[in-house]
Amino acid sequence: MKDYIVKKSSAGLGLFAGRDYKKGELVIEYTGEVISEAEAQRRGGQYLFELNDEWTIDGKGRANTARYINHSCKPNCYPELTDDEKQVFIYAKRAIKAGEEFTYNYGSYFFKTIIKPKGCRCTSCTKKSSR
Ligand SMILES: [Zn+2]
Repeated sequence: MKDYIVKKSSAGLGLFAGRDYKKGELVIEYTGEVISEAEAQRRGGQYLFELNDEWTIDGKGRANTARYINHSCKPNCYPELTDDEKQVFIYAKRAIKAGEEFTYNYGSYFFKTIIKPKGCRCTSCTKKSSR
């Protein structure tokens, strides 16, 4: 059994649980090239994960499976930085069943600049608007 599966979701490709996860369990590491804030500004893109004021992970590489995790306003996962602020791990915010899509909140800056102009397509917002 696989830990996770990449497949189509409401917002393009998404990452789905391949098995049950317990609350607080490690799901996946967000990996990529660690670049300076200035380089991040220059590159742009939606796979930038800010570590702190100085450093950002550019997670656009194919090896970074975590990049398939979509934003949700009501997520079931949360990202956490290691104490040295060099790595990011995604944890289960609650128990997650096999087949559920992993999501986390991308944060207010990302939401304002990238999601809001197009309208949020996360499952939580889609449900609200179709009600
Ligand atoms: Zn939303």
